[in-house]
Amino acid sequence: MKQSCIFCRIVAGELPAHNIYEDGDSLAFLDINPLTEGHTLVIPKEHYEKLEEMPQDKAGKLFEAVRLVTEKVQKAMGTSSSTVGINNGRLAGQAIPHVHVHIIPRYLGDGGGMIHSIVRKPAKRSLEEIKKAIGKEF
Ligand code: AMP
Ligand code: ZN
Repeated sequence: MKQSCIFCRIVAGELPAHNIYEDGDSLAFLDINPLTEGHTLVIPKEHYEKLEEMPQDKAGKLFEAVRLVTEKVQKAMGTSSSTVGINNGRLAGQAIPHVHVHIIPRYLGDGGGMIHSIVRKPAKRSLEEIKKAIGKEF
């Protein structure tokens, strides 16, 4: 646990939150400043700042919690859609440096956009060059 991290402190029960799901590795609670009704955050209980810092098994467990919570929230909110995503890193808008997955239920006529509307910066390199730069050694 990182004492200066508000999400670690929510996990430890030192700060209040509206928890809606918990298992051994993950916790889900309502966002304090919801973008739509039912906006939820799912976090790993251990402190990792960014997604790629998480070990494979922990990331897998987090994604399974996201899957379960998405279903639970959508059902409860009476919708079949949601936008699910992570602001991964400062340039992507991450304000709290503890991995958290946003589940934002979507509603007919909610006026929101889709992931494609977050940013549009035309690529200077071709897809072939970018593919080469990334490589495929895993
Ligand atoms: P991000 O920009 O992805 O780091 O978003 C952080 C999110 O955490 C925002 O949507 C905040 O409303 C939310 N948030 C901040 N503090 C709390 C808190 N104490 N309990 C619940 N949600 C919080
Ligand atoms: Zn933390």
